[in-house]
Amino acid sequence: MAKIAIIGCHRVQDQLCIACSKCLKAIAKREGEFARYKDDEVELMALGDCGDCPGLFMPKVTLVNEITHMIDRDFDIIHLGTCVVKAKKTGQCPLDFEQLAALVKEKMGKELVVGTHDY
Ligand code: SF4
Ligand code: SF4
Repeated sequence: MAKIAIIGCHRVQDQLCIACSKCLKAIAKREGEFARYKDDEVELMALGDCGDCPGLFMPKVTLVNEITHMIDRDFDIIHLGTCVVKAKKTGQCPLDFEQLAALVKEKMGKELVVGTHDY
């Protein structure tokens, strides 16, 4: 069982990419970065945004971690939404994915996967 959380771009989530339907589809069909779970069950434990300002990413993810733990819904892997990947490629998003992956590993012992779907 893969227990995941998805973190999207505050500026895009539910504004330009509506209702997170694309990530939900990709999970259901095991497409894009979810193909890695093709032989596994996936449970989406949390779906939220980056906190808007790049400096708020780690505090926001830490809160998500604390809340899910508090309600006994811990996750093991964080996926950065494709919205975040696109924001970096085309919108000058300043997030440093390698640095974030290292911080998530160090502070929470969890994995960070860059991306979700290809739609
Ligand atoms: S551009 Fe980057 S830092 Fe800004 S809201 Fe989107 S993901 Fe977050
Ligand atoms: S890429 Fe995924 S997380 Fe981001 S807004 Fe779209 S569906 Fe939601």
